[in-house]
Amino acid sequence: MTETMTETMIEATEVEIDLRAGAAPAAADAVAQAGVRKVVLAEPRGFCAGVEMAIKSLAWMVELFEPPVYCYHDIVHNISVVDEFRKAGVIFVNDISEVPEGAPVMLSAHGSAPEVVEEANKRAAVMVNAACPLVTKVHHEVKKRAGQGYDVIYVGHSGHDEAIGTMAVAPEAVHLVEKPEDVAALQDERPVAFLAQTTLSMDEWAEVRDEVQKRFTDVWMPGRSDLCFATTNRQTALKELVQQVDAVIVIGSKSSSNTNALERVARESGGVRVIRIETAADLPDDLDGIVGVTAGASVPARLVEEVVAVLQPVDGTETLRTTEEEEYFPLPRGLRERLTPEALAADRRTPASAALERLRTK
Ligand code: SF4
Repeated sequence: MTETMTETMIEATEVEIDLRAGAAPAAADAVAQAGVRKVVLAEPRGFCAGVEMAIKSLAWMVELFEPPVYCYHDIVHNISVVDEFRKAGVIFVNDISEVPEGAPVMLSAHGSAPEVVEEANKRAAVMVNAACPLVTKVHHEVKKRAGQGYDVIYVGHSGHDEAIGTMAVAPEAVHLVEKPEDVAALQDERPVAFLAQTTLSMDEWAEVRDEVQKRFTDVWMPGRSDLCFATTNRQTALKELVQQVDAVIVIGSKSSSNTNALERVARESGGVRVIRIETAADLPDDLDGIVGVTAGASVPARLVEEVVAVLQPVDGTETLRTTEEEEYFPLPRGLRERLTPEALAADRRTPASAALERLRTK
């Protein structure tokens, strides 16, 4: 996996969208801005490799199987993506027992508890697990360290799908901490391993790690943090962006942990106005000057385009790029074996946004 920082590049970008054609209903409801001079887009932003894989996987399920296709949990944490799939007939459930015996089912990108995977395997005619490989890696590490007699201190957000799935791998060994103060309450005699939810903000993770290292003398942690490349790349780009703008728009759903991390990074980095929105319809009407825009890892590019169209920057749009992302995660095995080599090659060339567009126009 490459995570090479290249020199920050500023590029002129053209973002075009035709609101008159009704292509952007959310943006059409929004209030046009009068005083925005320029928009600077953070790059990377939006879909990561794990989200690309999960969205394309569910789109393939819709194509390959008789409806309805079931999905355990929101496939990714973005309302508009989930709505697109709902319209295409996918039924989302939060309890695997709601999946009828013999139905096709997909498990979401956030990683599921082992008992959910087992039950899905028993009930479903076809079960495909779209867990991001980077989350699966943390599951493996929890299992391994718990098996070796470690107590696992897991920094994450209580109630988040990823944290629930990961902690369920070894519930007897895992202790969830959300903030540095939680570490003081831990009373461990056994060796300690420190693992993390993949989508936290870097600073949030580091604060807890420092506290764990102060409190325990012998702590095992991975050579490289569990925070995923997509999360850290988007935060790094945003940290530079906030230095150059008057306000920052963070696009993404409240349920999205990496979006919340972006909002936190923006608030802590720049002293600029920070506004998190779901769609362009949530934009305030008093923005002016230079506006920065970023988007969580599950946000479709279409939502960013709609925001730019509403901001109407007089001097146009630029991109502030801090690194190139070239990661690609192959489709899950349960799907790969059902597709021809030609279909797999085409899938690799096709972005998830095109798969969503196909669903929309079906
Ligand atoms: Fe995977 Fe990171 Fe994307 Fe989550 S944000 S799906 S962990 S690559």
